[in-house]
Amino acid sequence: MKRVYTAESLIDGKLVVDLLARAGVPSILFNQNAGGGLGELPVVYPEVWIKRDFDISRARRAIENFERGVSQPNETCAVCAEANPGTFEICWQCGAALAGA
Ligand SMILES: [Zn+2]
Repeated sequence: MKRVYTAESLIDGKLVVDLLARAGVPSILFNQNAGGGLGELPVVYPEVWIKRDFDISRARRAIENFERGVSQPNETCAVCAEANPGTFEICWQCGAALAGA
């Protein structure tokens, strides 16, 4: 077990778990209830841990791509012309492979 990511929010953490799963890396999200109640600042942030240590380099690469993708422009699908986030490898609308992948 290794920690690969500390998320700013639960949604952020779940996104990373999802993208790791797509990269073939099983992971677990810890501190899911760390957000506290309404109006409270989280004291502990959600953390993503990979189950198998040998996945570490694959996990880091997937997360780097994810973090770069946040500031990347959207990618337009060549098949259905739907806009996809730069982090996506396939179109969320029609499932076609995106050119940048
Ligand atoms: Zn498409």
